[in-house]
Amino acid sequence: METNSLIWFRKGLRIHDNPALDLARRGCKHLYPVFVLDPHYLDPDRSAFSPGSARSGLNRIQFLLESLRDLDTSLRRLGSRLLLLRGEPAPVVCRLLKDWKIGKLCFEFDTEPYGLARDKQVKDFASDCGIDVHSPVSHTLFNPSDIIEKNGGKPPLTYQSFVALAGCPVDPCATTYSELPPIGETGDYELLSVPKIEDLGYGDISQEELSPFHGGETEALKRLDHALEDKAWVTNFEKPKGDPSAFLTPATTVLSPYLKFGCLSSRYFYKRLQDIYASVGKHTKPHVSLVGQLLWRDFFYTVAFGTPNFDRMKGNKICKQIPWSENEELLVAWRDGQTGYPWIDAIMIQLKKWGWIHHLARHCVACFLTRGDMFIHWEKGRDVFERLLIDSDWAINNGNWLWLSCSSFFYQYYRIYSPISFGKKYDPSGNYIRHFLPVLKDFPKEYIYEPWTAPLSVQKKANCIIGKDYPRPVVDHENASKECKKKMGEAFASSSSKKQQNHNDSNEIASLKSKRRKKTE
Ligand code: FAD
Repeated sequence: METNSLIWFRKGLRIHDNPALDLARRGCKHLYPVFVLDPHYLDPDRSAFSPGSARSGLNRIQFLLESLRDLDTSLRRLGSRLLLLRGEPAPVVCRLLKDWKIGKLCFEFDTEPYGLARDKQVKDFASDCGIDVHSPVSHTLFNPSDIIEKNGGKPPLTYQSFVALAGCPVDPCATTYSELPPIGETGDYELLSVPKIEDLGYGDISQEELSPFHGGETEALKRLDHALEDKAWVTNFEKPKGDPSAFLTPATTVLSPYLKFGCLSSRYFYKRLQDIYASVGKHTKPHVSLVGQLLWRDFFYTVAFGTPNFDRMKGNKICKQIPWSENEELLVAWRDGQTGYPWIDAIMIQLKKWGWIHHLARHCVACFLTRGDMFIHWEKGRDVFERLLIDSDWAINNGNWLWLSCSSFFYQYYRIYSPISFGKKYDPSGNYIRHFLPVLKDFPKEYIYEPWTAPLSVQKKANCIIGKDYPRPVVDHENASKECKKKMGEAFASSSSKKQQNHNDSNEIASLKSKRRKKTE
């Protein structure tokens, strides 16, 4: 019997390789494509340090709205449209299921704790009502549960073991549509058109410079085609060799925000890369290749899915317990690009303005905030990234902050990025700094990475007096990094002595138990 189907979009904002959409449209009389604008992510928060909601700055909200507009356009081309509502998604969807007499509900499986809790409510309700529910995995290459099962019930904690377990992902769905089933009656629901960012109540945003990267599946596929045009670039791609200061033509694909919102399918991206590898023959390998980057993404998704309290230090078994300092002043200087280190500040300004920065730039500022210079908790930096990045992704962001702060995965805390020489290696003239910190644009290149060392006459000539127009360094890197290494060394020593103590304690308990057993035998 033909039924009414509802496809609930959250991520997966695309038509291509969308198994939830494909399942939903099969054998149905009416297909209701729904997206619910969630106050959890979208309600304005005037107390936040930049315009936007509590969790998201303007750039990511704008990216989402653009993605929704594009999805609506694609659906209209197929004789359908996006039904946009606003409110707490779980109760809204439950109401729709009843009122629109839905017999089949489909949505992409979400591995994040917030999504899992939200989806459970809807799934339970739908099952109680006898609604057929389908929740395929298509945000990642692999199903994290399968990998964890293959690994004996635990997530693999190294990339190498993950890759060895993972194998090859399934192919993306090849289905294309010429039309979709029509929408049925929608009753008296207030269906919105995709709002403009100005209409969402984030205050005066006229002064804001918004990201040059625009959301949507159409843009994602265009960007993918463009990135893959140069086969030699694809096959020779080695992530660590990329230039973090290249901003007019970034050294990597900038497909992360499209993958984050699912405007681009990672399986489709993977397949396109494999086709190029097959046609060219020789190519770089994981962990540095482009395929290797997609595997990093799945690696973090798998560990995050299988690790309770992955997004915090306390109660997180894979996270080293480090006595980070509290220092609001330093945190704000870092966040606002006011540390006095132009390389660090330019990166933070690019992050704020564009919502995207190169991977190695992320390394530099994350190291600087945590184990490199300021010794501030990685969760604080994670929060700033979560707000400002257009590709902000729960699993990947937390995973990389754990990594960079040497709290998990990587433990060479004595390897610290210099806030001076690292950037200089790539961009000796300081063009990147001049672009994102125009206050320093007239500094001679000899001083652009350390402007506080310039004689006053040079500062005057550059129209920028250090300490007045641009801050002096808020920490002295030489001393601060030494101090950080000392503290990290102590924290590591204390955690291994605690581990040893726990090990001894459990040996002692085991031996007592065995003695007791022998006595009773
Ligand atoms: P490319 O090099 O072109 O790679 C292609 C895709 O592979 C990316 O789009 C991304 O989906 C994936 N990928 C690449 N590097 C990584 C990685 N190290 N870990 C996981 N997946 C990866 N990436 C996010 O997508 N969201 C985040 O919130 C995020 N936070 C980060 C925080 C820190 C502190 C650091 C050091 C890295 C973070 N990354 C994050 C990872 C990485 O920096 C970005 O994925 C990458 O820079 C995005 O640019 P791209 O699309 O051009 O990457």
